[in-house]
Amino acid sequence: MTKCIACGASAEKGLTTSVTDLGNCLIIVRNVPCYKCAECNEVIYATEVVQHLEAIIESAKKLMQDISIIDYSKTAA
Ligand SMILES: [Zn+2]
Repeated sequence: MTKCIACGASAEKGLTTSVTDLGNCLIIVRNVPCYKCAECNEVIYATEVVQHLEAIIESAKKLMQDISIIDYSKTAA
C-alpha cells in the first residue's frame, strides 16, 4: 500500500500527465503510471518511473521542439 506523502491517506494506482516546462520548450508526457491520493490529489511516482521520465525528458530536449508530446506507455524499455 502506498501512502500519500502530503496527508498520509492511501493512494491508488492511476495514470497522469507530466508537464515539464523548460522555458524554451514544453515536454508533455502522457499516461505516466503513478499513485494518486484519494483525499488531496497528490501524485506520487515510483522510483523507476521517475528515472524513466527523466530519460524521456532528456531525449525530448534534444529534439528542440517547442512542444513535445510523448506517450509514456509507448516508450517503456
Ligand atoms: Zn493526500
